[in-house]
Amino acid sequence: MNLFTTIAEMRAASRAARQAGRRLGFVPTMGALHEGHLSLVRAARACCDAVTASIFVNPTQFGPTEDLAKYPRSFERDRAMLEREGVDLLFAPFVEEMYPAGAVTWVTVDELSSKLDGRSRPGHFRGVTTVVSKLFHIVEPDAAFFGQKDAAQVAVIRRMVRDLNFPVEIVVCPIVREPDGLAMSSRNAYLSPTQRKQALVLHRSLARVEKLAECGERSAKQLIAAGREEFSREKLSRQELTGHERSGKDVFAEVKLDYFAIVDPDTLDPVDDISNGALVAVAALVGSTRLIDNILINRSNP
Ligand code: AMP
Repeated sequence: MNLFTTIAEMRAASRAARQAGRRLGFVPTMGALHEGHLSLVRAARACCDAVTASIFVNPTQFGPTEDLAKYPRSFERDRAMLEREGVDLLFAPFVEEMYPAGAVTWVTVDELSSKLDGRSRPGHFRGVTTVVSKLFHIVEPDAAFFGQKDAAQVAVIRRMVRDLNFPVEIVVCPIVREPDGLAMSSRNAYLSPTQRKQALVLHRSLARVEKLAECGERSAKQLIAAGREEFSREKLSRQELTGHERSGKDVFAEVKLDYFAIVDPDTLDPVDDISNGALVAVAALVGSTRLIDNILINRSNP
């Protein structure tokens, strides 16, 4: 695996691969890799001749009060993992390489960027679309691989690629979960053992909605109420247990629901009825750790 830190070297290497007639797959990441990231690499390997991955903790997608400074970084470990997975080219630029002094140009996907996570994290998707555009221009992949875990990001990037005619196929891969259902995330590393258990409420709320939908419930209002109820229950069980926990170090955290929404997966607009398929998405703060998760409900048979 060849490592590049400059744009010029990365571009030359990926151009050489494509000129040799190889279909180039690209997996952009912020590092602190887990099985979710590796599933994207494996999908890329399965349908491309060469795979480029990037590791770049993109400062422009973090808000001023967010976790940029403490975001987990484990470059040598990540590099070894990618090498083992058969990645051919790794791009790991420094911030100054990607954002030279005086950079003032942004790529913005209007409207979509202020829904779901974009609403709670103003400026987040502007940072994502700007860096992904830059990476696409540098790597020039034939196909780029993203996780369904970040469902709003998928909608925003798909729209950007369509609107700006990027010559790249966007491939979306399923969410990889821990055995107990928690969606894998680099941010799970922030959770204390108790918070780790509390975090399961996200998956529980989605599982409940999925079950009700399977049993025929079609009303988004009813399904949202059921999903939110799981969060109220979590609060109650926490209140019951706080007395026992108070003396210990690992106290229960506040779990604060940010949104529980049922939307069209492409427009991210709310839907009233899930018969035509829907994205059920949830975001919550467990202590100070913001977690997201979602499920896709397929269109029901007529
Ligand atoms: P990140 O490093 O968090 O920017 O994520 C890089 C890519 O990995 C994004 O396309 C994410 O959607 C994807 N990803 C993160 N977690 C998971 C997961 N649990 N399952 C599948 N893909 C994931």
